[in-house]
Amino acid sequence: MRTIIFATGNQGKLVEIREILRPLSVTVLSMSDAGISCDINENGKTFAENAMIKAGTIAKALPDRYRDAIVMADDSGLEVDAMDKLPGVYSARWMGRDTSYRIKNAKIIENLKDVPVEKRTARFVCAIAAVLPDGRTLETQGVIEGKIGYEERGTNGFGYDPIFMLPDMSCSTAELSPEEKNKISHRGKALRNMERLLREELG
Ligand code: IMP
Repeated sequence: MRTIIFATGNQGKLVEIREILRPLSVTVLSMSDAGISCDINENGKTFAENAMIKAGTIAKALPDRYRDAIVMADDSGLEVDAMDKLPGVYSARWMGRDTSYRIKNAKIIENLKDVPVEKRTARFVCAIAAVLPDGRTLETQGVIEGKIGYEERGTNGFGYDPIFMLPDMSCSTAELSPEEKNKISHRGKALRNMERLLREELG
């Protein structure tokens, strides 16, 4: 069976990835499952660049026993139009990695205090990159559009979910169940796009 090594230590992501890639009959391992650790310098200017930097760095560090494996990585974040698309690729690091999302979310709401509803547009973006055993690369992206709310709502999800409002559902992504969120999320879309590309590649 084909092995995919996914550059994440996040178990929640792994569950989602395994579920979406299930039709491919592949084994999905995290870096630590595969016994790989390496320093990755995420200094790209776009989500796609960062995903490719991560996948490329790990592909180069693959031990011999995984030389037939596919390496995959993602990068995601929140773009707020009224903040010149920040926090963007800095989403995890913005205001400091250890700063709580309660504080980060409050700061975004404060930044937008005079911004009318029609200009509160924002999106979650996820890019996924894959490096195949022969060195070829694949890239996909998924986006979910929404608006920044006026207060935190909901307790599901993580990060910026409580302030990310789905306009047509009048709720935040933190008010969706994990299953509901996976169906419409940026990561779900990017992963399903990658599943389609890989299905063509693997036959
Ligand atoms: P990563 O790509 O998993 O490293 O995510 C980067 C950062 O983007 C996270 O730490 C969050 O701040 C933010 N982010 C990405 N996806 C989501 C999401 O689905 N909900 C809330 N925040 C997210």
